Amino acid sequence: MTQKVLIINFEEIYLKGKNQKIFIKQLIRNLKRKLDRYLTYLNFTKAHGGSYFIEIIKEIPEDILEEIIYKVKNTPGITGFYVADTTGITMEAIIEKSIEHAQKYSADFESFAVIAKRINKSVSFSSMDIGREVGSAIHDRLVKRVDLTSPEFKIFIKVRSTYTIIYSKIIKGIGGLPVGTSGKAISMLSGGIDSPVASFMAMNRGLHITAAHFHSVPKTSPQSIDKVKMLAQKLTDFQGQIKLYLIPVLKIQEAIAQHTDSRLRLILLRRIMLKIGEQLAIQEKAKALITGDSLGQVASQTLENMKATEDATDMLVIRPLVALDKKFIIDTAKKIGTFDISILPHDDACSLFTPKSPETKAQLKYVKEQCQKIPIDDLIKASLSHMEYVIISDNQILETNI
Ligand code: ATP
Ligand code: MG
Repeated sequence: MTQKVLIINFEEIYLKGKNQKIFIKQLIRNLKRKLDRYLTYLNFTKAHGGSYFIEIIKEIPEDILEEIIYKVKNTPGITGFYVADTTGITMEAIIEKSIEHAQKYSADFESFAVIAKRINKSVSFSSMDIGREVGSAIHDRLVKRVDLTSPEFKIFIKVRSTYTIIYSKIIKGIGGLPVGTSGKAISMLSGGIDSPVASFMAMNRGLHITAAHFHSVPKTSPQSIDKVKMLAQKLTDFQGQIKLYLIPVLKIQEAIAQHTDSRLRLILLRRIMLKIGEQLAIQEKAKALITGDSLGQVASQTLENMKATEDATDMLVIRPLVALDKKFIIDTAKKIGTFDISILPHDDACSLFTPKSPETKAQLKYVKEQCQKIPIDDLIKASLSHMEYVIISDNQILETNI
């Protein structure tokens, strides 16, 4: 018998009119993939009134239920959900289960209302009967007051064809759009605070992310790569599975350092990162590049520098954080669980390479002149021939060429 039901709500998807079906289909596909270890416990089914049910069809250990709830909560597209208790369709069963359900929240309320509905009209009692009987039982047994106008606690009861669902508190989801409904993008993932947040925001607008990380091993430590893997793994909370490319750029940095104006080092390196990102995008059928740039956050993140950087590619470059202040970005990083990983010490490909006085207002013409001084295409080719990748899921590395 069905043990519990997760009643899923989606708000923004409802605005999608004719495309609603496609969005819901993708969302359910994403959910099934994220919950694939637990599918034997679950039955996905559409319900009356536009919500979606995940029925838990057999006895489930509490920790697995908690994990399922965590995954549902972090799935883009879901604005909220209820974890409903279930029982039979007799009045006695409904009363008993309703009391048990309300008791769990008993410390939180004094007044309550019962909102009952019969979808199964063949039972011998009406919705009003349920309201009255459950209401008086909770009143007597839990010593609570019925208040139909502004109750502190609402308990919803729905009698369905084979079982009754009882629920009250909504659990907030992260909302947004299902991953994949906006297409694919390559996200430039450093070990910092910003780019994981940018990746999350892109996912939350329906983009499926493939991550690209540029490293300077052996100049930088292998731990800096482990850190990026940990960040990517954290991001699987939202996307389920992430492919992470690891691209060596030490040789490129050396060429830049030897042959070009030191004030432009970072811009030239970023340009090459975008060019490599573009090649990965073609490979992955992605249509945009994501970066964690935020206007003015550091002296070099200026409009001039952003323009001089993105000029290297014809691809759309999306900067989800461009107008957000650092506090908001940090709060989001904490909320999505990447902050504690991002602040672990690491040696970053760029910080070892940063000149004493980096350019803050790069002139595109001069940047292009400097680019001519190094064999960019050959350098990129060599770097790509040593590129590695890992495919990471929430608890393991699924595939790698390392
Ligand atoms: P972050 O906190 O994301 O590192 P930041 O504030 O340190 O950002 P920069 O170092 O100027 O900013 O980098 C700007 C963006 O360039 C990053 O957000 C990221 O998208 C990309 N980037 C920088 N370094 C790397 C790298 N080693 N690998 C991949 N992407 C990078
Ligand atoms: Mg950085």
